[in-house]
Amino acid sequence: MALDETLRRRAELLRKEIEEHNYRYYVLDSPTISDYEYDMLLKELERLEKGHPGLATPDSPTQRVGGAPVSEFAEVSHRIPMTSLDNTYNPDELREFHARVIKAVGEVEYVVEPKIDGLGVSLVYENGVLLCGATRGDGRTGEDVTSNLRTIRSIPLRLRGGKEQIGEIEVRGEVYLPIGKFKSVNEERGKNGEPVFANPRNAAAGSIRQLNPKIAASRGLDIFTYTLADLRGDFPKTHYESLELMKELGFRINPLIRKCSGMDEVLSRCRELEEMRDSLDYEIDGAVIKVDSFELQKKLGLTSKHPRWAVAYKFAARNRTTKLLDIEIQVGRTGKITPVAILEPVNIGGVTVSRATLHNAEEVERKDVRIGDTVMVERSGDVIPQVVRPLPEMRSGNEPHFVMPGACPECGKPLSKPVGEVDTRCTNNSCPARILWRLKHFASRDSLDIEGLGPQTIIQLLDKGLIEDIADIFELKRQDLLKLEGFKEKSAGNLISSIEKSRNAELARLLNGLGIREVGRFTAQLLSSRYKTLEALSSATEEELAGIAGIGPKTAASIATYFASDENVALLKKLSDLGVSARKGTCGGRLAGRKFLFTGSLESISRGDAEKLVTSQGGIVASGVSKDVDYVVAGSDPGSKYEKAKELGIEIIGESEFFGLAGPVPNGSKKQTQKTLF
Ligand SMILES: [Zn+2]
Repeated sequence: MALDETLRRRAELLRKEIEEHNYRYYVLDSPTISDYEYDMLLKELERLEKGHPGLATPDSPTQRVGGAPVSEFAEVSHRIPMTSLDNTYNPDELREFHARVIKAVGEVEYVVEPKIDGLGVSLVYENGVLLCGATRGDGRTGEDVTSNLRTIRSIPLRLRGGKEQIGEIEVRGEVYLPIGKFKSVNEERGKNGEPVFANPRNAAAGSIRQLNPKIAASRGLDIFTYTLADLRGDFPKTHYESLELMKELGFRINPLIRKCSGMDEVLSRCRELEEMRDSLDYEIDGAVIKVDSFELQKKLGLTSKHPRWAVAYKFAARNRTTKLLDIEIQVGRTGKITPVAILEPVNIGGVTVSRATLHNAEEVERKDVRIGDTVMVERSGDVIPQVVRPLPEMRSGNEPHFVMPGACPECGKPLSKPVGEVDTRCTNNSCPARILWRLKHFASRDSLDIEGLGPQTIIQLLDKGLIEDIADIFELKRQDLLKLEGFKEKSAGNLISSIEKSRNAELARLLNGLGIREVGRFTAQLLSSRYKTLEALSSATEEELAGIAGIGPKTAASIATYFASDENVALLKKLSDLGVSARKGTCGGRLAGRKFLFTGSLESISRGDAEKLVTSQGGIVASGVSKDVDYVVAGSDPGSKYEKAKELGIEIIGESEFFGLAGPVPNGSKKQTQKTLF
């Protein structure tokens, strides 16, 4: 075989392999290889294609972020118009919709879907390859944003399941920014002095309309596809079947979609979705109810504006207007000063909101928010409520502008705002507000997770002079705790034992808990897998740190500065003298060094708590099936991981065997299940 042919085959194989892992990771959320292995495959393909440009193909996974920046988007007319849905706001209106449907075509089955609050897009495939992606626009004409959509990894560049022969196909879906990503994008923008996005939808729209695909790619957009608009060949008979077909073709379908018969079932599903609203990683603003049968959809037809076979049921709004009573200053863990709007309490989507963040002084100025203003406040998911804008027409003319104070309201020391930075800070390390934050952060769930050491207890400990810094926590005695309000023998003993447990924490948790500027959970994880010990990390140079993928120069500088400070060196020594050491994974604990993988739902404990139990016992939680996994713990309805584990001959154990190894279920672990159809 000619060399070229060998290389071509290798490239083809790599492309298939990478797309498969992409699909497992981004669509199924069940990866089977590590990120590192994935990167190695991608790097090999990149090298091959770079060395032999003839080998590159437009559907290659290396081409996801390949598009060049444009000065404007081309217009695309939708062959089939993207109609909008009629909205209903209460159960009565839904029943009226149902009555109209029944009158026209008799009893029907419905499909109920969460209404994702994002940006509608259309994707056209030809010969199984993504050809064009466009925004909805006015429903007839949208913008060609193909190069940005290609960067979304849950959009297949090539259809799966050997169905390339399906030929031309058009699907529609909603592009959205996961709430976690939304928070970090805003945090980043805040730091850089750029205006923050008011909500995840605006952020998604802003990202998909980025002229530079690299920026769009960096945002972490995702998609749920929900409409099969066009297909050459056998069209499914029902909407639900079309979703299953799209799933086979590699599209990401929302797992909360249900088939319902009758309006009572529809309404109860709508209520369930509304209750789930705050626990999802994406914003939903309602439910979409569609007649399942395509034949009946056709019979019902369209009005001049909307289809008669579908309707959107909108949940209570997430924004309200209220009065801004005052702007308070809050001092954060790192000394960052945040102006906080004090509001006349207002109920937004079932939650009473009385405070909202204003991010920083520039943001207050940019939005022109004044004290006494009537303001629009928005709450998205579990994001801190935000002041979207003032309503200047409601002003009396006596509303004063906000002025950032010159001194810290907590310690009285002058505040500083370095040139070129957006944030004002209190740089006094002994500022009581900062000490409180540091302690709270250190004990929190994402850091050392010291059960029983909540904010109220920390405040009492500080007031009584029992602790001054994080290391003091490890010197606390039972007698000390008994001096605090609300502590009895038992609760004091419990807290002492949870402090004991955290003495040997995972390195990532300890790192996160130290509160180094710019080092959050993700960076902490990255550093811990790279350096393994605190000593190794503390001796890394700034240049070395900046060379790590995922760590920017700012973060590298901040880490280096942290370990260079005498004060911090003293603190770390104090911690180590007190026996606080970061676990390397293989020492201590009943499960020391053993690797576990969970599949299916567990009966007596949530997945998260089971994983926590593993790590708390020195074990490791695997993200995918591979030969180095020691045990696969299979609950009910195990997924594809189960089959794969069987193939590899990995020991599969049940829940009771798992507890036999790991020890009893910890108190307070409660079980939450969410059954999914897909
Ligand atoms: Zn201060």
